[in-house]
Amino acid sequence: MAYSYEAPVSQTLFDRASLVTPGGVNSPVRAFRAVGGTPRFMVSGTGPYLTDADGREYVDLVCSWGPMILGHAHPEVVAAVQDAVVRGTSFGTPGEGEVALAEEIVARIEPVEQVRLVSSGTEATMSAIRLARGFTGRAKVVKFAGCYHGHVDALLAAAGSGVATLGLPDTPGVTGAQAGDTIVLPYNDLEAVCAAFAARPGEIACVITEASPGNMGVVPPLDGFNAGLKEICAAEGALYISDEVMTGFRTSKAGWYGIDGVRPDLMTFGKVMGGGFPAAAFGGRADVMAHLAPAGPVYQAGTLSGNPVATAAGLAQLRLLDDAAYAKVDAVSAQLRSLVGEAFTKEGVAHTVSAASNMFSVFFTDEPVRDYEGAKKQEAFRFTAFFHSMLEQGVYLPPSAFESWFVSTAHDERALERVAAALPAAARAASEATA
Ligand code: PLP
Repeated sequence: MAYSYEAPVSQTLFDRASLVTPGGVNSPVRAFRAVGGTPRFMVSGTGPYLTDADGREYVDLVCSWGPMILGHAHPEVVAAVQDAVVRGTSFGTPGEGEVALAEEIVARIEPVEQVRLVSSGTEATMSAIRLARGFTGRAKVVKFAGCYHGHVDALLAAAGSGVATLGLPDTPGVTGAQAGDTIVLPYNDLEAVCAAFAARPGEIACVITEASPGNMGVVPPLDGFNAGLKEICAAEGALYISDEVMTGFRTSKAGWYGIDGVRPDLMTFGKVMGGGFPAAAFGGRADVMAHLAPAGPVYQAGTLSGNPVATAAGLAQLRLLDDAAYAKVDAVSAQLRSLVGEAFTKEGVAHTVSAASNMFSVFFTDEPVRDYEGAKKQEAFRFTAFFHSMLEQGVYLPPSAFESWFVSTAHDERALERVAAALPAAARAASEATA
């Protein structure tokens, strides 16, 4: 596909980056491989806007893949960071900020009785499954196709997000031993879960699932799916791990748990709780968490875990996320979903706008999508045309048809009007696209 617009400074930076960094990026989906063209190098963000190195401004519908729920450079978050940073950036000792952040998480999410802070969502899920294995004395882990839990060796099998975007069947470097204890099942299929437990009695340590998946596009759990997982795990002596790295503190004050009320044994968090800094966490039942070092034998550690600047940013962001903030994000999302739906309908483009609270994505199919196989059946080539038309008109979407769109409290009428103005031409481009 040829692009009628250019980004010369971004292109120069990308060329420089490609010499010193594999593929020119530090996380694969940023490279625009699924959509082509030059990845935009951003230099600043304010509220709902990003500005790239060529001086072009975009309405940001990625929000750093979820964390920036208050928009970019929120004054109170910036002030908290400034206040923390001048007092020192890392001590390698305990500090009050991490206690306060842990208290905030425990106060918001009832099943989390104890929590351990880490630096990325990947670390959180990796540690949670290690703990589940240590607690149960079992080896096997059940995950679902299309769910992404970070780049943990054992969890990369049939993962979503960048793995889906790049169409990677398997990842070289993950050995048979690392992946051999992972059982991958179709999402939203409780019968498959029952069959897996029946085939391996007493062997499965845990079931890990995205609380509501956003890494194969947005595919919410069917009614009763999460409750069914919990029930099966409880009956089989396995742990139910709900990965809320994406949904946590975003889909409601208490994340997806605040919506479905199904009580996990362990949960994982990241993104929003770090306020744009590397902070993540896992937590849950106190009797399970008691197995973690130094209280118990399961080892887990981190030089920068509970970093004072990251915890200050996260705490400031969480304290601003009250009921009114969630009502605002939900309303922005609803308005945007209806604008997007109208634009595609007008151009006769088969589509489904799939939402889970304020997270949503567009599938280019009118068949309901309930699992990864369904997500892959969409006409993803239409997304490429749509994406580039939006980009050219100053709207920054996730560069993949398999990712959630994210909005913030900062997306005001002006930002939404800019998106609305871009949609008709982009929907037309999608309708005219050919495979
Ligand atoms: N779990 C889920 C549900 C995610 O969406 C992600 C990242 O997108 C992760 C885990 C991994 O988090 P991180 O990228 O911080 O390692």
